[in-house]
Amino acid sequence: MTLDSTDLFGPVLDRRVVPVLVPMPAPRAYSYAVPEGMAVEPGSIVQVPLGPRFVVGVVWDGEDDGGVDPKKLRAIEEVFDCPPLSPEMRAFLDWVAAYTLTPPGLVARMALRAPAAFDPEPMVEALRLTDMRPERMTTARERVLARASDGLSWTRSGLAHAAGVSSSVIDGLASQGVFETVFMPPPPVVALPDPAFAAPRLEGPQRQAAVDLLAAVEERKFSVSLIDGITGSGKTEVYFEAIAATLRADRQVLILLPEIALTASFLERFQDRFGAKPAEWHSDLAPRTREKVWRQVTTGQVRVVAGARSALFLPFEELGLIIVDEEHDPAYKQEDRVFYNARDMAVVRGRIGNFPVVLVSATPSVESRVNGEMGRYRPIHLPTRYGDAALPDLGIVDMRRHPPERGGFLSPVLVNHIGKTIGRSQQALLFLNRRGYAPLTLCRVCGHRFQCPDCSSWLVEHRFRGQIQCHHCGYSERTPEACPECGTLDHLVACGPGVERIAEEVERHFPDARTIVLSSDLMGVKRLRLELAAIARGEADIVIGTQLVAKGHNFPNMTLVGIVDADLGLANGDPRAAERTFQLLSQVTGRAGRTGLKSLGLLQTYQPQHPVMQAIVSGDSDAFYQREIHERERAALPPFGRLASIIVSADSRGDAEGHARGLRNAAPRVDGIAILGPAEAPLALIRGRHRFRLLVHGRRNSDMQTFVRAMIAAGPKERGSISVQLDIDPQSFL
Ligand code: ADP
Ligand code: ZN
Repeated sequence: MTLDSTDLFGPVLDRRVVPVLVPMPAPRAYSYAVPEGMAVEPGSIVQVPLGPRFVVGVVWDGEDDGGVDPKKLRAIEEVFDCPPLSPEMRAFLDWVAAYTLTPPGLVARMALRAPAAFDPEPMVEALRLTDMRPERMTTARERVLARASDGLSWTRSGLAHAAGVSSSVIDGLASQGVFETVFMPPPPVVALPDPAFAAPRLEGPQRQAAVDLLAAVEERKFSVSLIDGITGSGKTEVYFEAIAATLRADRQVLILLPEIALTASFLERFQDRFGAKPAEWHSDLAPRTREKVWRQVTTGQVRVVAGARSALFLPFEELGLIIVDEEHDPAYKQEDRVFYNARDMAVVRGRIGNFPVVLVSATPSVESRVNGEMGRYRPIHLPTRYGDAALPDLGIVDMRRHPPERGGFLSPVLVNHIGKTIGRSQQALLFLNRRGYAPLTLCRVCGHRFQCPDCSSWLVEHRFRGQIQCHHCGYSERTPEACPECGTLDHLVACGPGVERIAEEVERHFPDARTIVLSSDLMGVKRLRLELAAIARGEADIVIGTQLVAKGHNFPNMTLVGIVDADLGLANGDPRAAERTFQLLSQVTGRAGRTGLKSLGLLQTYQPQHPVMQAIVSGDSDAFYQREIHERERAALPPFGRLASIIVSADSRGDAEGHARGLRNAAPRVDGIAILGPAEAPLALIRGRHRFRLLVHGRRNSDMQTFVRAMIAAGPKERGSISVQLDIDPQSFL
């Protein structure tokens, strides 16, 4: 649809050539002509020709430099009937592009992820009662007339449903002129949330926390608050108050959650508080729903969105608050195309839009914690669990003193507690962050190890499916019976445990218990939601799961949590390994004891003296944080220094290494910035591509972006199969 009424969108620029950002990895906007009679302004969403195709783009800011020969200029094809991206949104997209060193068109594309939503939703056909009455009356017809006599418009199926008749009754009445056809606006995707629907009574520390938070929110300007408090202390309840205040002020709210596809319980809880669900935004939405949500967010019909990191790029009409729940979660980091951390970019969006941002976590990231201590963020602390919910008792199982049976992975201490727990008709959760049956398979005769042909990683056995699989590229083959190297039959051994193997061990000990394995590879999101609900209702005795069981679920009858291998995340050379392990283990043990029942968390470890284990069992997280902060400061690691990582990959090892060296040699000399590498990446091969890494390490105030840009500009050109990925503030070092 072509739009030429200027009054809708305010001032129209009197310009015949405009810059348009197209969804391409181009360094800047392209010039397009505005045809006679078409009105556009910065932010207008338009369709433009690009090569042989048409693409959706956004009219951007800035003057056109007149560099294109006017005769070669192509014209904008169409302006969508859609609110233009606001100046704040455009400034935000520009900022993200500059910070992450991503071409701006690729960032803008993230804001335009619902192609069919750029035109208004079609009106819905509806029926309204006229003065005509049917010749013959029946009871069914009477019911319909009684229902429709309110003078409102009804959809055909809505009216049939409300009157409890079949649609043919409605059709019969319509054919006699009893109804006229009218058109009404499409229904909202979610009902309006009501800030007064079910406000809780906040007392004690919750009350104080809410007062402090509301003070920040009601200033209606940029600030960052950090709510930190153990699981179950009421953080959600407190930030719901900030949401209520924002709704009362008629502004929209965005809640970011790390694993939205799994948090059905969050949506229900929101509904209990506000009388309606928030709109959801994540990659599993059906396309139609996605379009409706996008559209209704831009028009302001949707007031609250709960979404995954990509929701940060929705063009809200009037955003007034962002909550980042579980702000420490690694899922906020996207490492694909646009490398960004949604937690950090949420803060940027708040600064540009001048509204408050609230970060929430039981185990904040070291970065946020330091920002809290330095006064950049306002710390809001909730020290105790709400009501009669007690924290689980936490204990260490020293695996050197209580080793498992031969071929097993559960110590007798843990097995004994599982038995007691299910004997009381309560539930036990065993956590192991490893999918499949065993992480490595080898031949007992010749020592051959099964490796992915395209990646430098072992193939993981998935016994339920009878396959060995690569967790990096998805390569799989049937689990062989003979060794491909020496040909010996039936001498392959599984090394180490995955969740499936733990389930086997549990079933050996407790054959009558209802045991369930929860792992993302075993079921889709729908099934998972159902399984989680069933567990919460008590329909399983022993749950064995990967990290997806750690996030946000509430299992009231879960009184034992066993961590099968607490040491697992510690040995990977990542500077955040201790922090991550602490966060993950705290989150998992926090699943226990969410109601009044006495509960226990047990950590199986070979390093009982490790500071992470000590911090968790002693409950003294402050000491742990102080130690971590001190270490980071000493090594000038974030947030006391800055990192950028450059990953060069190519079809041949030589090309990748050569290009990485070339980049290093081209780097400018800047005081306070050093380059490490190139070194072969720990994952040296992924999908047949060889990988080398450079790590740029700067001081806190170093301009990393300018440095990296200069290095890329002066370095060798990317050619052939070579590709370079830039990752500012990297989280992964693999
Ligand atoms: P957190 O987000 O810190 O894990 P929650 O907000 O989920 O804590 O609170 C834990 C439990 O206690 C939830 O079931 C919640 O409904 C309940 N709860 C917390 N505060 C209150 C309150 N003031 N009134 C009623 N229930 C509360
Ligand atoms: Zn692979």
